[in-house]
Amino acid sequence: MTEMVCIVCPRGCVLSVSDGPEWGVTGNGCARGAVYGRSEAEAPVRTVTATCAAIAGPGGFGENPRRVPVKTTAGVPKARVAELARTLLATGVRLPVRAGDTIIEDWEGTGVAVVATRDVG
Ligand code: SF4
Repeated sequence: MTEMVCIVCPRGCVLSVSDGPEWGVTGNGCARGAVYGRSEAEAPVRTVTATCAAIAGPGGFGENPRRVPVKTTAGVPKARVAELARTLLATGVRLPVRAGDTIIEDWEGTGVAVVATRDVG
């Protein structure tokens, strides 16, 4: 049995989730909480936001920031968030970059991409 607070809406229901393979959820005020509780107990994932180092284009950095904000397009397994963060810390992005540009197409075969979240350069 696992207890957790549902973060899907501000009500913050306290969920109890039984062990697998049933993953039965109680304490949820709506169906979304059951989905969240089951997912969080069985295979928790997190959307990752970070910044990557910018690599200047031919004109140098100019007024551009030296970091490019990025995020994953879906959740990655919670246990691998630190690994992805280290990868992003070591990833350089050549300017110019546009919001939505793909920085990493399919990270480690997870099917999750990393994209820029703003225009830089
Ligand atoms: S279970 Fe439903 S009502 Fe309760 S916090 Fe989650 S989303 Fe909100």
